[in-house]
Amino acid sequence: MTNEEIWRATLAELELTLSKANFTTWFKNTCILYCTDGEFTIGVPSGFIKEWLQNKYHKNISTALQNVTNARIRKISYELNIHFKKQESTPSALPQKESLTAPFTQSVQPEESKGLNPKYTFNAFIVGSSNELARAAAAAVAQTPGSIYNPLFIYGGVGLGKTHLVQAVGNQLREKTPNANVVYVTSEKFTNDFIEYIRSGKGKTTTPSSFKNTYRSADILIVDDIQFISGKEGTQEQFFHTFNELYHNNKQIILTSDRPPKAINALEDRLLSRFEGGMVADVGIPNQETRKAILECKCKERGVEFSNDILTYIAEHIQNNIRELEGALSRLIAHCQLSNIVPTIDTTKSVLAATITKPQTEHMSPKQILEIVSTFYSLSADQLIAKNRKKEIAWPRQIAMFLMREESKTSYPTIGQELGGRDHTTAMHAYEKVSRALEEDENLRQEIDIIRQKLYSQVH
Ligand code: ADP
Ligand code: MG
Repeated sequence: MTNEEIWRATLAELELTLSKANFTTWFKNTCILYCTDGEFTIGVPSGFIKEWLQNKYHKNISTALQNVTNARIRKISYELNIHFKKQESTPSALPQKESLTAPFTQSVQPEESKGLNPKYTFNAFIVGSSNELARAAAAAVAQTPGSIYNPLFIYGGVGLGKTHLVQAVGNQLREKTPNANVVYVTSEKFTNDFIEYIRSGKGKTTTPSSFKNTYRSADILIVDDIQFISGKEGTQEQFFHTFNELYHNNKQIILTSDRPPKAINALEDRLLSRFEGGMVADVGIPNQETRKAILECKCKERGVEFSNDILTYIAEHIQNNIRELEGALSRLIAHCQLSNIVPTIDTTKSVLAATITKPQTEHMSPKQILEIVSTFYSLSADQLIAKNRKKEIAWPRQIAMFLMREESKTSYPTIGQELGGRDHTTAMHAYEKVSRALEEDENLRQEIDIIRQKLYSQVH
């Protein structure tokens, strides 16, 4: 694979685990500058992005690169690459893996004006029982912003349409009232702008567009994934003031989160009560019928037609996440276009075999789990089994125990046995510890999802 192909496949992996807004904000105009012997240098368009990738996404990038190249990643560094242009393909020393890039024809989309993607409209949003309340509330807000539901707080799991819905409000308002100042940001961007504002001396007149001007002049302020302000006191304080000012001027505020307001850790009480003071609506996992309708809608958007049994098959097998549903469709479309065929149900099954995460638990053995987990963390199975309490080893061991319990329904005594004759209480403790950590740590959730995908693709 060339560097460009590796990076394209890596981006495709990252895209699955990040929100679209984050993905576009942080990965636009990035590339692999050099790569030798498992050491990668990633080119980035600004120092600001460099910092973010280093501090926040390093692990995600490393995991994705590792998945794509199937090789051990020794080091990743980031380098400014201001004159961004498409990199020349350079032969790479990495082992070739079957054309992983083929299914991923999507590239990073350009950032839309003020963060709104015109694709996200109400028309393109399929309504079902899982999202009808959120959809209705959003539509009402788009009709009469700043009056009935303020703030509007939409929460739900990854890839279930929160960003789509709140951007639909923004797009509709902008269409109806072109002069309206619709500000859409992720809470990460809000936090960063705030930090930048502090750094630049609290909006001295020399700062051209100060934080306050941007946010407090909004007619509609949409903050996506607000859960990330958890624990950031300065940002919360600033957000509180922004919120109050907008609210008292009858400006609409729309927030999304992966969990309800109460479940956001380390959120100041005064903010919690603000968030709960308007309309709180959730989006859930769509049922089979809705999933199929979404697939039909996406096919139409892309100008392709698939037979009913194919769409039913995809909708039946990908259940938890609409982004994954779309990803599966993209892979199938790309496959058919590249090999110039009309897909049958068999093609569909084989193209999606690795994607479809339907655990065949009866075929998954604790040994397989041990293998996959140790490989994932660049350890050997023996290291996980051995008596070593170093955190770098103990934590992957606990994850292996957790997955044995979850994925192959192994009993606690057997799990202990598989891991070098440990006691069953150790296995129980590990299971509880990982479960608890999962509730709070989105990155961990994503990490374990990736391990799961590896497990499933091996079992198939
Ligand atoms: P979230 O912000 O909740 O993580 P997104 O809004 O980014 O999820 O949605 C992921 C993908 O799924 C987007 O491409 C979006 O268009 C699509 N999607 C989600 N819900 C629907 C829906 N009800 N109808 C059509 N497409 C949807
Ligand atoms: Mg989102």
